Amino acid sequence: MKLNQNYRNLEESYLFSTVARKVSAYAAAHPQAEILRLGIGDVTLPLAPAVIEAMERAVAEMGKKETFRGYGPEQGYAFLRESIQGYYARRGVALSVDEIFISDGAKSDLGNILDLFDADNTVLVPDPVYPVYVDTNVMAGRRIVFANATAENGFLPMPDGRVKADLIYICSPNNPTGAAYSRGQLAAWVAYAQKVGAVILYDAAYECFVQEEGLARSIYEVEGAKECAVEFCSFSKTAGFTGTRCGYTVVPHALAGGALHKMWLRRQTTKFNGVPYIVQRGAAAVFTPEGERQIAENLAVYRRNAKRLSDCLDGLGIWYTGGKNSPYVWLRCPGFDDSWKFFDHLLEEANVVGTPGCGFGKNGQGYFRLTAFGGEDTTAQAVERLQALLKK
Ligand code: PLP
Repeated sequence: MKLNQNYRNLEESYLFSTVARKVSAYAAAHPQAEILRLGIGDVTLPLAPAVIEAMERAVAEMGKKETFRGYGPEQGYAFLRESIQGYYARRGVALSVDEIFISDGAKSDLGNILDLFDADNTVLVPDPVYPVYVDTNVMAGRRIVFANATAENGFLPMPDGRVKADLIYICSPNNPTGAAYSRGQLAAWVAYAQKVGAVILYDAAYECFVQEEGLARSIYEVEGAKECAVEFCSFSKTAGFTGTRCGYTVVPHALAGGALHKMWLRRQTTKFNGVPYIVQRGAAAVFTPEGERQIAENLAVYRRNAKRLSDCLDGLGIWYTGGKNSPYVWLRCPGFDDSWKFFDHLLEEANVVGTPGCGFGKNGQGYFRLTAFGGEDTTAQAVERLQALLKK
């Protein structure tokens, strides 16, 4: 027996465990303190009533012999894939139903897709970014190069012709920076991928937050993207499915001459047995008129929170990205070069918790992430405390 030695090359992730440890130590020492948490990127609003009703109906179906369902199609039920097809079509993107694969969330498929690629590929990952892209490739022993996201490029790195990459990760709107690419910027990435023969792994987990005209919600809004990009998306942030688990991955037929679609289908039918029927019924309800209306109300709450946070930073003259097209606000730590020192300062002086930017990559040092997924009252109170603490 030989272990996968690549696991030894993983860096320990202390980010959220250190945040939790520091917060509980502070709470234990200051039991009166009312700590406001704007750290972890989990949603706080419940599932929409339309989703719950659809799942309840599905539960009842499972309890009757005539309507009971056993194994479903590995790629997902047609009713959900067709609803997703319609969702893309309304944004001008034509997909065939069999290009859409239902998953138990974007995180699983972001890792699973790597089955299709040789270990001898070079991977280009933005820094800072969602840590899963780096760790899944370290586990496979792939070479990783970084695309520097900095204040100078608005945390939106563009292709560098001198860098040779085979797999390119793009996360837009980005976690943690909230920065979102325009269609024109993505067209430059598509052109680069086509020139060097690379595949783009496009993470659209936060697409529903994009509001501004000209910004992309899907990479397939860019001509030629179907020949070079896989897209991952999720109901987690769109519809509060972080605990319910459902997402989807788009693998176009045109990609790599059809090879990747065929391989992904083979991979999924071999290693995956599909998402529960009940969950898929809940996900399909997201696209009904009632579901869409209810979900829009929830998203409006998060957007108001994001606006409160960005207005606060505008008022304080603190540089940031995100907020407008994203549930994350990414700020330069005012008066601190070290993200953890700023974390301690906010925790101790304002009892507000955020996430230190250095936990997402070296370029995150000196930056800080606040999430708009908190409650409205929590966010409004946090804003008041930030204003009082950080005003010059
Ligand atoms: N992609 C990004 C950029 C994320 O931030 C997250 C979750 O926070 C995910 C994917 C995971 O999504 P899911 O809940 O669908 O697995």
